[in-house]
Amino acid sequence: MLFPHLLKPLDLGFTQLKNRVLMGSMHTGLEEERGGFEKLAAFYRERAEGGVGLIVTGGISPNLRGRLAPHASQLSFPWQVSRHRIVTDAVHEAGGKICMQILHAGRYGYHPFSLAPSAIKAPITPFKPSAMSSRQVKGTIKDYAASAKLARKAGYDGVEVMGSEGYLINQFICARTNKRTDEWGGSFENRIRFSLEIVRAIRATVGTDFIIIFRLSMLDLVEDGSNWDEVVALAKALEQAGVTIINTGIGWHEARVPTIATSVPRAAFAWVTERLKSEVSVPLVATNRINTPEIAETILASGQADMVSMARPFLADPEFVNKAAADKSALINTCIGCNQACLDHTFKMQRATCLVNPRACYETEITFNPAQQPKKIAVMGAGPAGMAFSIYAAGRGHKVVLFEAKSEVGGQFNLARKIPGKEEFNETIRYFTNQMQETGVELRLNTRLDASVLNDEDFDEVVIASGVVPRAVELPGFDSPRVVTYQQVLNGDVEVGKKVALIGAGGIGFDMAHFLGEKGSSTLDPKRWRDQWGIDEAYEHRGGLKAAVKEPAERTIYLLQRKTTPMGKGLGKTTGWIHRAVAKMHGVVQMTGVSYESFDEQGLHIKVNDEAKVLDVDTVVLCAGQESNRTLLSEMEGTGKPVHLIGGVDVAAELDAKRAIRQGAELAMRM
Ligand code: FAD
Ligand code: NAP
Ligand code: SF4
Repeated sequence: MLFPHLLKPLDLGFTQLKNRVLMGSMHTGLEEERGGFEKLAAFYRERAEGGVGLIVTGGISPNLRGRLAPHASQLSFPWQVSRHRIVTDAVHEAGGKICMQILHAGRYGYHPFSLAPSAIKAPITPFKPSAMSSRQVKGTIKDYAASAKLARKAGYDGVEVMGSEGYLINQFICARTNKRTDEWGGSFENRIRFSLEIVRAIRATVGTDFIIIFRLSMLDLVEDGSNWDEVVALAKALEQAGVTIINTGIGWHEARVPTIATSVPRAAFAWVTERLKSEVSVPLVATNRINTPEIAETILASGQADMVSMARPFLADPEFVNKAAADKSALINTCIGCNQACLDHTFKMQRATCLVNPRACYETEITFNPAQQPKKIAVMGAGPAGMAFSIYAAGRGHKVVLFEAKSEVGGQFNLARKIPGKEEFNETIRYFTNQMQETGVELRLNTRLDASVLNDEDFDEVVIASGVVPRAVELPGFDSPRVVTYQQVLNGDVEVGKKVALIGAGGIGFDMAHFLGEKGSSTLDPKRWRDQWGIDEAYEHRGGLKAAVKEPAERTIYLLQRKTTPMGKGLGKTTGWIHRAVAKMHGVVQMTGVSYESFDEQGLHIKVNDEAKVLDVDTVVLCAGQESNRTLLSEMEGTGKPVHLIGGVDVAAELDAKRAIRQGAELAMRM
């Protein structure tokens, strides 16, 4: 067995988990959709069938004012039990176990009725909470217990009490947000009373044979957070109060340190859980950026934790555990930590899904049945769109021949993976490559598909996935060899000088600033990464924060855009701030409202608000978006075969890999 620690059962006394894998809590958006619980049941069923030891649901509020948003889920009334039953039955039929997370948002509630220990507004919501009265505090504790009782009635195997990420319980624990002077505030003993009373009340209500997980904030990453002694003291008190398992929480949502984005090193926070290992005897769960069975096994084998929590990796691949157990980890579709289709959707109140797996949360809507009439299909281009189409179409029984002009598959992902912090994009290329082999896709590298190929062979249909090409900008002097494209830079085809102007500040402009500003990749050097972001591994300061180590770039970099809107406005909802912070870290000069005039020996001539300026730069890198690569479209249409367009060749504007892969999958489903 390759992963003996990961696959080892865990005995909790009154019940056994079949392995050490906890599927962490994720809000999918299905919880609030009409008919959503049936879809949610299908979603969880696939993960239980896929071998997960213990599933934790998305957060469910114990009362009205604890909701995350006005229409967010709540479990407080007996009539709400039956829809949860659909979910628990599905998981149990599939041989799994499931706990319901109880989450009171406190001041993170996105509505005007939010409550908190003290009336202090969170920096990430527009609503100022009301301070809870003593009666409301006691009532909320009862609501937690009542919700847990209903969860048991609904068939859950336990509950997870959300005590981290800056939600209500965490707000009571830390002096940062708890300025009360009654028995619920002031001293540390008073501040943790709320969490302990909740656990005691739940345990008294549900009995001894019900799992209670407590998600404990072990590293707040905000000023005036807990210190290490307080974390240990609370963990010990929680154990006394009757928790079964302690899960790790890292960072409040308002923290300005990335905790789960793709640029966070793998298992970057396992050391925190490890630190607590010797202090308590209940099982501890390590979390954050654990995305392969190999890394999970290392954590468990080295004794850093008793279980590992992975959440997004189960959006990316429901079969993660089964594949690991069958020694097929090379076939796991790995979560690349992009947040683009999961958290970014959740924060925009859209249903979550996954960039690399468009079926996630669409299990009943995107299905790949065997093809009624298998066809022979030619696919032009092995970028994300072409590869996605190919594996799903071949999986349905079509004969797929995938033509790629270059010597490698991946398309623009081969450029993306060279950006510091985007190393995970290699995993998507690895997954598709192996899956193409598995499903019998015939791959022809170094082969440009054109009409002559189509005429020579007997294809039924053609899928064009030839992607995009960088947009050219034609201005006086821009024909200079010192005006280059992002593609040339990332492919190493050109030398970049010490003074650079980047034209265009979209995702690629910011990525290019990072590429040119950073020496190597700190994602591959966790200690350096922690220093860059001011994470105090010695835990000498409250919240685990210390002064960040400055790393100014060796180059002068200007990042320019024509729009007058704030820089990086179109970047990912949950990751844009990281790109902006990295640019700041490297001293990148950002200018908006720029119009470009010309380039010569003096540098780049621009106008900003009609004022002429010359930027003293030796290189200009064009990051000005892309255009569809349609050079062969009319030739293809001329063959008379049915032609389909997917990905960047279809529409280049606002193209991302999420759309490219989804379009590929949807076409494969229909064909
Ligand atoms: P492409 O990736 O352009 O693939 C097209 C393929 O077709 C190429 O391999 C090409 O060689 C091949 N081809 C063309 N003509 C022929 C022919 N006649 N015969 C055979 N083969 C042919 N997206 C995100 O969602 N998130 C990110 O974080 C992200 N970061 C990025 C960072 C960088 C630096 C770059 C450059 C891109 C990034 N992207 C990101 C964008 C993402 O890579 C693209 O949206 C995606 O690759 C588009 O997929 P596609 O399959 O449509 O086209
Ligand atoms: P983009 O987001 O469309 O940005 C293009 C930039 O070029 C804009 O700043 C635009 O701003 C400028 N521009 C457009 N036309 C121009 C012209 N004719 N002359 C000068 N400037 C021009 O495209 P991108 O940065 O190339 O990214 C492509 C796609 O990849 C994006 O849609 C994105 O989703 C994806 N991507 C995502 C990430 C991520 O981290 N999530 C990272 C990289 C890429 P002005 O018009 O204001 O000048
Ligand atoms: Fe992971 Fe990105 Fe999929 Fe979210 S969208 S689960 S971060 S790969």
